[in-house]
Amino acid sequence: MAPTRVSKSRTKQAATTGKALRLRGTHPARVQAILEALDRAYPGATCALHHRNPYELLVATILSAQCTDERVNQVTPALFRKYPTPEALAAADQRELEQEIRPTGFYRNKARALIGAARAIVERFGGEVPRRMEDLITLPGVARKTANVVLGTAYGIASGIVVDTHVQRVARRLDLTRNTKPEKIEQDLMKIIPRDRWIVFSHQLIWHGRKVCRARKPLCHECVLERLCYSKDKTV
Ligand code: SF4
Repeated sequence: MAPTRVSKSRTKQAATTGKALRLRGTHPARVQAILEALDRAYPGATCALHHRNPYELLVATILSAQCTDERVNQVTPALFRKYPTPEALAAADQRELEQEIRPTGFYRNKARALIGAARAIVERFGGEVPRRMEDLITLPGVARKTANVVLGTAYGIASGIVVDTHVQRVARRLDLTRNTKPEKIEQDLMKIIPRDRWIVFSHQLIWHGRKVCRARKPLCHECVLERLCYSKDKTV
């Protein structure tokens, strides 16, 4: 029988994974094998929040706190029609806005944050969503996680790694961090993930957490990282 042809990259991939299976924690070969597996499973992973520009992404991300992206995507089309610019949102009536975003939960705080952020963008940043972390986190309702989403997805700037509830859980299960606070987890991940991977890695981990490595009953039998994972939460 003719020998099966195996491409060089496949052979290299198998060798990396084979070696990584015996490794634990943040050993570079293990991290590399995890990144390769995520690339194969989630090529081109990106943000699930519908948006057409940095302003819309900022609004959608503020609304996504404690809410699913699906629910936010149901609310934002009408919102963006009514308030197409930061100027329009800055002039919004708080009560009206509250009712418009009510399905996303915490609507009073979110309405206050949205109007405050829009006013700050108009008054301090010439109507443009700022491109620097230190500026973004001065906006009401915007902390490091939201700023990372906007900078990474809207501007392609790798300012950090988005650590939401999915990234938090999956990174800990994969033993890439032992911290529990998002800021600490982000610092741990930034040390071991190459900077040019930060944006896509965040999206890939979020997708993996949503679809496979769920909080309850993770679908380990479907998981591309199963052989690299030794979490006590594993279901296989
Ligand atoms: S094997 Fe299970 S626990 Fe580990 S990363 Fe995959 S889904 Fe999560």
